Amino acid sequence: MSEKFDVIVVGAGPAGTSCAYTCAKNGLKVLQIERGEYPGSKNVMGGVLYRKQMEDIIPEFWKEAPLERPVIEQRFWMMDKESAVSFGYKGLEWGKEPYNNFTVLRAPFDQWFAKKGVEQGVLLINETVVLECLTENGKVVGVRTDRPDGEIYADVVVLADGVNSLLAKQLGYHKEFRPDEVALTVMEVINLSKDKINDRFNLEDNQGCTIEIFGDSTKGNLGTAFIYTNKDSVNIGVGTTLSSMIKAKLKPYDLLDYLKTHPMVRPLIEGGESAEYLAHLIPEGGYHSVPKVAGNGVLLAGDAAQLVNAIHREGSNMAMASGTLAAETIIAAKERGDYSETSLNQYREKLYQSFIIKDLEKYKDAAHTFEHYPQYFKEYVPMLNRAANKFFTVDGTPKKDKQKEIMKSFTSERGTIRVLQDMYRAWKAVK
Ligand SMILES: Cc1cc2nc3c(=O)[nH]c(=O)nc-3n(C[C@H](O)[C@H](O)[C@H](O)COP(=O)(O)OP(=O)(O)OC[C@H]3O[C@@H](n4cnc5c(N)ncnc54)[C@H](O)[C@@H]3O)c2cc1C
Repeated sequence: MSEKFDVIVVGAGPAGTSCAYTCAKNGLKVLQIERGEYPGSKNVMGGVLYRKQMEDIIPEFWKEAPLERPVIEQRFWMMDKESAVSFGYKGLEWGKEPYNNFTVLRAPFDQWFAKKGVEQGVLLINETVVLECLTENGKVVGVRTDRPDGEIYADVVVLADGVNSLLAKQLGYHKEFRPDEVALTVMEVINLSKDKINDRFNLEDNQGCTIEIFGDSTKGNLGTAFIYTNKDSVNIGVGTTLSSMIKAKLKPYDLLDYLKTHPMVRPLIEGGESAEYLAHLIPEGGYHSVPKVAGNGVLLAGDAAQLVNAIHREGSNMAMASGTLAAETIIAAKERGDYSETSLNQYREKLYQSFIIKDLEKYKDAAHTFEHYPQYFKEYVPMLNRAANKFFTVDGTPKKDKQKEIMKSFTSERGTIRVLQDMYRAWKAVK
């Protein structure tokens, strides 16, 4: 392929396709390269797709995209061995247009989204690996693929090649991950009939539910588990930071087995058949881990730029929003005919003015805090469960006495000062 493109986008996940789609829609000549057999074939996601960022790209996409269920309920469980303290929100308005978010299966969704890009004029080639970025005088000028005669040239190369961006590493933008900057997550898609899902999760057709589970789901280590309802399957997964996994000598597949057989979880998935088993990394380093995102002739978007808000499990929306901002930057750069780092640095400014970096900045100390003070997941979750058990057990003890006993148990287990310090530190980390 000897022709030159305006843009080469590496990767056909949400970041790459958002960028490719927007560039092509604005008349740019775009080549998108995906190593998988088709977009979505190599992608892993718990499954919540956020409406807002997708709608900004394709208005009313829910009328034609392959979605599973609109999410009308979000539950959170602080789980112990045989109990869980739960809270959440269920809102029927989320089941109506314009919706809040949806569960999706990435294989059909990514294929559909990439096809929309192709309809705008993107040239998408699958089953092709980009091996390296080509540079001339310090400027990225194209890519070398694993195809014969695989050198292709463009004014800008967008690296949307996911969490472990080897291309960003090759350019020196990424270093090797520290084990506390990345989470290893395993998940399973379990087929279950629509009726069983509706009964077990208290839903009607076309209503979805998400459950995020902390505490015993990760054996008290920093991380979460999730259960999301699809039309006739359930996604269940669990992950912890790599550092927690190493420290506690956990094996990810053992954790998933533990979760699936946990007495709080087992009844929800009983009788289901495993359809898929997946494992993937999530960049969870947040604000401090965001690398250089713009250089001479190159931009980084989505997971490749480490743009994930782990606290709110937002990744796909940040990928889409960053891909779109990258596209807008390239369109403006083409008008100026300037693809230098100074010109493309507009992307960095846009990112830092958007919800993406603002949200990452808000939680910039959260990962560090919860990693270094393990009591939040290890001690407070069981304490909370014991307190709830005491409070809700009717045994003739006056409620005021129960309250006093609970407060005493909290402070005697960890000491008043330490409890106050822990609360203040947690509040500071997420305020
Ligand atoms: C278990 C799990 C659960 C998650 N749950 C959620 C959730 O519920 N909601 C949410 O919003 N986010 C979630 N996330 C995060 C979300 O999946 C990611 O943030 C999002 O997929 C990032 O999109 P991306 O386009 O940047 O990268 P990816 O989706 O990873 O896409 C990168 C693409 O690049 C391709 N590629 C890589 N290298 C090359 C190469 N050299 N040449 C050609 N192609 C290449 C890959 O094949 C891939 O298709 C979850 C992640 C995991 C692992």
